[in-house]
Amino acid sequence: MKPFDYVRPTSIEEAVAAARAPDAVYLAAGTNLLDLMKAGVTRPARVVDISYLPGLNAIERDPDGGVRIGALVTNADLAHDEAFADDFPAVAEALLSGASAQLRNAATVAGNLMQRTRCRYFYDTASACNKRTAGTGCDALGGHNDGHAVFGWSDACIATHPSDFCVPLVALDAVVEIAGENGRRDVALDEFHRLPGDTPDQETVLAPGELIVAVRLPAEAAGLRAHARYLKVRERTSYAFALVSAAAALAIDDDGTITDARIALGGVAPKPWRARTAEQGLIGCKADADAFAAAGRTAMAAARPSGDNAHKITLGARVVARVLARAAAGTPRELPALPASPFAIQAGELAHV
Ligand SMILES: Cc1cc2nc3c(=O)[nH]c(=O)nc-3n(C[C@H](O)[C@H](O)[C@H](O)COP(=O)(O)OP(=O)(O)OC[C@H]3O[C@@H](n4cnc5c(N)ncnc54)[C@H](O)[C@@H]3O)c2cc1C
Ligand code: SF4
Repeated sequence: MKPFDYVRPTSIEEAVAAARAPDAVYLAAGTNLLDLMKAGVTRPARVVDISYLPGLNAIERDPDGGVRIGALVTNADLAHDEAFADDFPAVAEALLSGASAQLRNAATVAGNLMQRTRCRYFYDTASACNKRTAGTGCDALGGHNDGHAVFGWSDACIATHPSDFCVPLVALDAVVEIAGENGRRDVALDEFHRLPGDTPDQETVLAPGELIVAVRLPAEAAGLRAHARYLKVRERTSYAFALVSAAAALAIDDDGTITDARIALGGVAPKPWRARTAEQGLIGCKADADAFAAAGRTAMAAARPSGDNAHKITLGARVVARVLARAAAGTPRELPALPASPFAIQAGELAHV
């Protein structure tokens, strides 16, 4: 491992100043960063350890029903916060479907947003990878790419963003609160991750030294709590990243008509992928299997394979239809301790849509 400076700031201002140095990185729980450093994928000159910074580990409620989640809140503490899980059940469900209990106990909110892709060529320093080293090429383009992106990719990079947590967050209009040398700014999560274009090494809109201090969810998101679910399809039922996942949240009136709809997908794009056209198509429809199947097809209509991954287009349509059916059936009173197999059929669902 390359030698590096290690600094432990005691305030946000000190952290931001320390991270302005060239090749500096923040360290939260290190569950992603340390693996990357050990593999030689990331070779920072300075590690700014923010894990001891005060004031970043609170879950705060706004009087209007929104919530502000500190950057250092762990994935487990957030998922198991009863008031949070009551109001934002799809977010808790996504958190519980990620990684393992041990990792969730350590991994932080901001670290989850900032985690790097799981593209195997990115982790293999013998492979060409424009994201790891700009301008070197992309071995995934002609390689094993059945797990890669079907939306938002470019000829420079076809990797996906691996987070579960970000998927319901983007569906529910989460906002990222950022501190930098000129003070604070807010960025909608939907605008936070960049598409690769010609510069896949630039993954977010963060400027050098900028620090995520919190993520906020608006009160309107809590208003969708009665019909909100997350569904993740992966190669094993636990401890694996999503092939395709989807979050859905609905408002349904007494006649069974949909009055608000939120849909986002994971595992299909270089960022959490909001399906706005499919959402709009659901407004005014009866909450039934036909409407959900149509929404699934609409959500994937603009997808294009980037290699051996055309199966994700069919899979994505089915995952969207199924998560909508689960959301319409109503949020369960208690989230399962372990996520159920996505292949288990629930009451009222069709086996294939
Ligand atoms: C075996 C394994 C399985 C996993 N499975 C899943 C899964 O199924 N689903 C899923 O979503 N995730 C999964 N993960 C990823 C895991 O959730 C992330 O590693 C974790 O969320 C990162 O959080 P951290 O606090 O450890 O971040 P770190 O590793 O400390 O940091 C990660 C990145 O975030 C940056 N960073 C951290 N905090 C800030 C901040 N406040 N501001 C700006 N930048 C910051 C760091 O500089 C670094 O680049 C898995 C990880 C492992 C190791
Ligand atoms: S898909 Fe992206 S991350 Fe994977 S090898 Fe190509 S450039 Fe690198």
